[in-house]
Amino acid sequence: MFIVLLGPPGAGKGTQAQRIAAATQLLHISTGDMFREHVKGGTELGKQANEYMSKGDLVPDALTIQMLLERIGRADAAEGAMFDGFPRNVPQAEALDAALAGRAAKVDHALLISAPDDELLSRLGGRWICRNCGHLYHERNDPPKKAGICDLCTGELYQREDDRPGVVMARLEKQKPPVALIEHYRKADILSEIDGKQSLDAVTAVLLEAIK
Ligand code: AMP
Repeated sequence: MFIVLLGPPGAGKGTQAQRIAAATQLLHISTGDMFREHVKGGTELGKQANEYMSKGDLVPDALTIQMLLERIGRADAAEGAMFDGFPRNVPQAEALDAALAGRAAKVDHALLISAPDDELLSRLGGRWICRNCGHLYHERNDPPKKAGICDLCTGELYQREDDRPGVVMARLEKQKPPVALIEHYRKADILSEIDGKQSLDAVTAVLLEAIK
């Protein structure tokens, strides 16, 4: 099964993807996490991507699609995956459709999580991530048991560079899912829309029900 998670920055895609992956054993592929790994590792792709990420812009399709196609070509993605943060536009969606069609597969579900801007802003501001395992926390909605320490692996928690106020506003302006992307999946009759303002547990329950 292949699933795409759509939504504006801060809607909870990453957190919900981690929860769904834990509940279903689906492989979780986050293009944002992949880019951050490249930035951390100082690779050529990381250097190029960071020029865009640091300003709240999307990384160009050519780079993003190539990275994604390489990732889904690996053996662990043969049976399915859940994409978090990909696709962000119609050309990316079409590239994914074509790649999956080439192996007699398709996107089975598109889950769109939405929330109002004030909620998105406050969520992005309070987000903490484990440097070691990548688990996501929120200082109000989903705090770690001990501040600054990951519950799962005792790794150190950090805040993303692009969660700083100036960049957050740019991301919200530039990175809402385009209407044409939502329509792409609505037309294919695989779109489920979820109100992301509900509690974390309630959103997870709705998402799991949608893909059951
Ligand atoms: P995210 O963790 O999904 O918020 O992504 C972090 C940053 O990585 C974004 O602000 C973009 O700069 C970049 N990024 C992640 N996924 C994509 C994508 N599918 N297309 C273009 N840029 C992306």
